[in-house]
Amino acid sequence: MVTLADLQVRTLGACTVKSPLAMYVGDRETNEYYVGETDRILYDDTIELITARGVPLDELPTFEAGGPRQSIFFDPATTKVGVVTCGGLCPGLNDVIRAIVLELHTHYGVRDVVGFQHGYAGIVEANGHDVVQLTPSYVARINERGGTILGSSRGAQDPSAIVDRLVELDIDILLVIGGDGSMRGAHNIGREIASRGLSIGIVGVPKTIDNDIPHIGQSFGFSTAFAKAAESIKAARVEVEAAVGGVGIVKVMGRHAGFIACYAALANHDADFVLIPEVEFALDGENGLLSLLARRVAERGSAVIVLAEGAGQDLIPADDRTDASGNAVLGDIAGFLRDEIGKDFANRSQPLTMRYFNPGYAIRSVPADASDSVYCTRLAQTAVHAAMSGRTDMVVGRRRHRFVNVPIPFVTAGSHSVSADGDLWLSVLESTAQPFSMR
Ligand code: ATP
Ligand code: MG
Repeated sequence: MVTLADLQVRTLGACTVKSPLAMYVGDRETNEYYVGETDRILYDDTIELITARGVPLDELPTFEAGGPRQSIFFDPATTKVGVVTCGGLCPGLNDVIRAIVLELHTHYGVRDVVGFQHGYAGIVEANGHDVVQLTPSYVARINERGGTILGSSRGAQDPSAIVDRLVELDIDILLVIGGDGSMRGAHNIGREIASRGLSIGIVGVPKTIDNDIPHIGQSFGFSTAFAKAAESIKAARVEVEAAVGGVGIVKVMGRHAGFIACYAALANHDADFVLIPEVEFALDGENGLLSLLARRVAERGSAVIVLAEGAGQDLIPADDRTDASGNAVLGDIAGFLRDEIGKDFANRSQPLTMRYFNPGYAIRSVPADASDSVYCTRLAQTAVHAAMSGRTDMVVGRRRHRFVNVPIPFVTAGSHSVSADGDLWLSVLESTAQPFSMR
């Protein structure tokens, strides 16, 4: 069970420097823009959960509020900050980089901000990547482009070599924009820093296009991503309606969590079946996908399947390969389903026109939409506030409409996925009219 101790964010030490934000927010003792140390956001969201704990109010698990502190740890005049992006692309990376640089320069007066190129690999000196000086003019319009101006990479790196380079470059704060693997890496770097007795802060902005990192609220770029995926579903609908026996398969991201598939399908109600990793389905039998699909096409003339890449892995032989970071390579469920559906329709002598859409890279590479841009900016500002106040080994998130600081070990301990008993999946079933059980 989650306790208050799990949610305590580490700090590098006492905050003794007056925040330069006083210029913008005023300098009164009780200024409401500054976040007080006793301001906490509840972890539990129902009275039942709170009462079931049976503990006093001050022992309830709560998140530390994110935001500016009146006194900070680092003196902006002498602080140097490094920024790195790791893992796969996601809409909004450049918005986060831009907002970090602008917040540090414009508000805190931190002039020395550098970008490491190509992920953690770019921090390791032996790999020979130069750092990029990040200035407001350098980042001015980067938010209009997708991807990351810093580049990214996968693959294990030695935390000791990373800390050596941070020390050599006099970095005080490392801001990491990356996924679950990057956050595990950040925690290891933080441990190496602590073991050497150094005061280097490490703060993350969690990036996950699949929305599968727990406790941080919705991840940035997710809403841009599912909106883009919804366009492919709409295109699939148009294609299959024009064909005889049209069946469209739209493969979207979602290795372990089917959020993109669910939200994209709900966005325009063009899907007949949504297949996600969290909900197993059978191919054969009366309630299996093949029969249901054949029936749907016979009744309505066409059907669209929205397929998360990690769905149905139990139906195909496991792929024992891993990527450079050690993540398992998924089996090709889309190819398998195309073959099986083709054979099944032939057996039934039912006409079939198959259309396959794989918008994955097109989704990953788009710039963030306006709503995600705002979100990226605010997450980045929260990360800068946390880092300047000496917080470390933590990521930023948003809970109950508040920005929060969350310890890295707490977010890497689990993952976030669609609950087969939850209201999101129920909405998908209602919108697709696919049966509760396809087994
Ligand atoms: P995403 O999976 O969303 O694309 P990610 O951050 O999980 O993003 P990875 O390729 O898994 O992407 O990891 C990025 C970097 O983080 C790797 O280059 C590696 O240095 C580091 N890393 C990954 N997994 C771990 C781990 N288990 N422990 C320590 N460091 C890790
Ligand atoms: Mg990952």
